[in-house]
Amino acid sequence: MSGFADIRGHARIIESLRRAMQRGTVAHAYLFTGPPGVGKHTVARTFAAALNCLDRPDDACGACRSCRKMAQGNHPDFHEIAKLEDKKFILIEQIRELIKTLQYAPYEGRVKVCLIADAEQMNPEAANALLKTLEEPNARTAIILTSSAAHQLLPTVVSRCQTLRFGLLAEEEVRAWVAANMSAGEEDAALIAALAEGSVGRAATLDVEFLRGPRLALFDALAGARPNDVAAALALAEKMLETDPGLVDAVELLAGFVRDAAAWRATGDSRRLRNRDAQAAVAQYAGRMTIDALARKIRSLARARRLVERNIAKPAIAAGLCVELLSPAPTDFAKGRLPR
Ligand SMILES: [Zn+2]
Repeated sequence: MSGFADIRGHARIIESLRRAMQRGTVAHAYLFTGPPGVGKHTVARTFAAALNCLDRPDDACGACRSCRKMAQGNHPDFHEIAKLEDKKFILIEQIRELIKTLQYAPYEGRVKVCLIADAEQMNPEAANALLKTLEEPNARTAIILTSSAAHQLLPTVVSRCQTLRFGLLAEEEVRAWVAANMSAGEEDAALIAALAEGSVGRAATLDVEFLRGPRLALFDALAGARPNDVAAALALAEKMLETDPGLVDAVELLAGFVRDAAAWRATGDSRRLRNRDAQAAVAQYAGRMTIDALARKIRSLARARRLVERNIAKPAIAAGLCVELLSPAPTDFAKGRLPR
């Protein structure tokens, strides 16, 4: 585990944590909120290491005995809990165990640190058990909660934590992360960063071969079909299901494509496009639709996404959606009906 310098983005948050360490004003409890995959957990772990680093007062050196133990996952004064894989929630037993260990002074570090990842997954009993510890914090303990759905936390928990809000990463920050952490060449790193929506977590799930192959094929099929061509719409639906039987990702891809088409129609500025490598297809599709029609398609794609998540007949959703995507005028799907 290395220090803050290796983290992409979040300079302001890191600076405030370092300042608190320099001034001895570290809070007893922090809540790191923000979108998934932007680095909340990495910052939390680095902060935890820094709090006990033997070499630096406000950073983790990565080399001292304490930092090495952090990296190996066997520091006796660091406790991390998260939802167990086979459970629905973070359980009260997990919190109780945590509270017990927090009653003792640190074994060898300056501070006992505990990290609760995705804290919104605590069930109400677990959250209430934690609340007591947050209300009467021990000296020499620090609790860090991370959450990308902080609105689901008990307000009483939130109010006892110092909240730090993480934003999305800049495309350049994601690109640098991809270049350093995924075996991707310059061009591939740029493509992944453009499509990662400010999240290195999302970047890590993107597969270049898929992006350059099936993804572009789907865009070409949409852009190449004539308006109101029902056979082409059904072929496109077939292709969506082939590309992604779950449909969620295929719908997401097309939503990004149509958003680009709307941006292109409105501004004609290629720097505004996310799917820059599909600019010709974006322009071709945008040329056939009014801005109103594109806005309607964005709403239809959002609706398709909700239907897919509820597991409603996927072939029918794909078919209805694709007929709509090829139609300049509103279809049944846009009006909220599914074709039989
Ligand atoms: Zn160290």
